[in-house]
Amino acid sequence: MKNGAHSAHRPRPQRHFASDNYAGLCPEALAALLDANTGHDISYGDDAWTARACDLIRDVFQRHCEAFFVFNGTAANALALATLCRPYHSILCHELAHVETAECGAPEFFSNGAKVLLLSGPNGKISPAEVERAVHRRTDIHYPKPAVLSLTQATELGTVYTLDELRELVAVARRLGLRVHMDGARFANAVAALDVSPADLTWRAGVDVLCFGMTKNGSAVGEAVVFFDEDLARDFDRRCKQGGQLASKMRFLSAPWVGMLREGAWLRHARHANAMAKRLEAGLRALPGVTITYPVESNAVFARIPPAAEARLHQRGWHFYTGVVTPNESRLMCSWDTTPEDVDAFVADVREAIGASDVAT
Ligand SMILES: *Cc1c(COP(=O)(O)O)cnc(C)c1O
Repeated sequence: MKNGAHSAHRPRPQRHFASDNYAGLCPEALAALLDANTGHDISYGDDAWTARACDLIRDVFQRHCEAFFVFNGTAANALALATLCRPYHSILCHELAHVETAECGAPEFFSNGAKVLLLSGPNGKISPAEVERAVHRRTDIHYPKPAVLSLTQATELGTVYTLDELRELVAVARRLGLRVHMDGARFANAVAALDVSPADLTWRAGVDVLCFGMTKNGSAVGEAVVFFDEDLARDFDRRCKQGGQLASKMRFLSAPWVGMLREGAWLRHARHANAMAKRLEAGLRALPGVTITYPVESNAVFARIPPAAEARLHQRGWHFYTGVVTPNESRLMCSWDTTPEDVDAFVADVREAIGASDVAT
């Protein structure tokens, strides 16, 4: 109880490690949003903010590309994947991929029946051999024909595909006639982690479509579907409209993107979140009884924490999820606004919770 008494002196946590979606808007996104709230502007995406956001996306990728803003990542993925395949096709993805585990079948629904086929691989990543195996497993008419490879960057386990890994995967996909979709809900974290250009990490490697996320990185709402192949973008606006994804006041989705992209805030915030994850990893590694379960390469830390200690942390007011993404593992996400003090306070509470449960058992 000595430990419990000590922790009472610390204020209850204001920020959590449950999800990068728990964080609010970063100052840059909020300022742009407020700016966009001046006077009247044209609706349905024909406004200057949306045009500017698309131009900034083209600057980021150093080439012409077509960008569309939709409300969330599920819609971005589902509509992008529906564009890449016919109803009798299949989409290859990792078994932990968000498109499989967290979209309620939206990719299958919007593609009118394309089937998601699951590949396994360590650390949330797909290997070229797995892609090859999945494509060759069945080639008969009774099986949905593989048409798309969907990669998540950074992955659901917080790891990242290196440039070489990505190039190799895309080469195999191309050879097998697959299009390549990238779920980039945490694309910024991957770019920051690898310190490579966004162009290298996408179209130069052969990615056809990127679902570029900004919500988890400090925006409010609105993800961008970025087509590097203009032919694929044809009529995508209609698909968005039919799917209920054409915002009438589009400027409130696109303006935060201007705030995030124009002076590089998106990468600064992602770099910060990644650094906080490294700090959290280091703090947790020093504790007996806690195991880090995957390489910490972006803003996620996965850890095994003794259940009794975990219960104490929840009692203490910390929110985080255990066993949701992978069995028995706690997923700890850092955000643009996670502070070193937040990390240190959490680590101190984990240390205390472990000590307390040792005494109790
Ligand atoms: C959060 C997330 C999404 C988007 O989820 P929405 O809740 O639909 O915005 C997509 N892919 C991955 C990997 C994610 O983590």
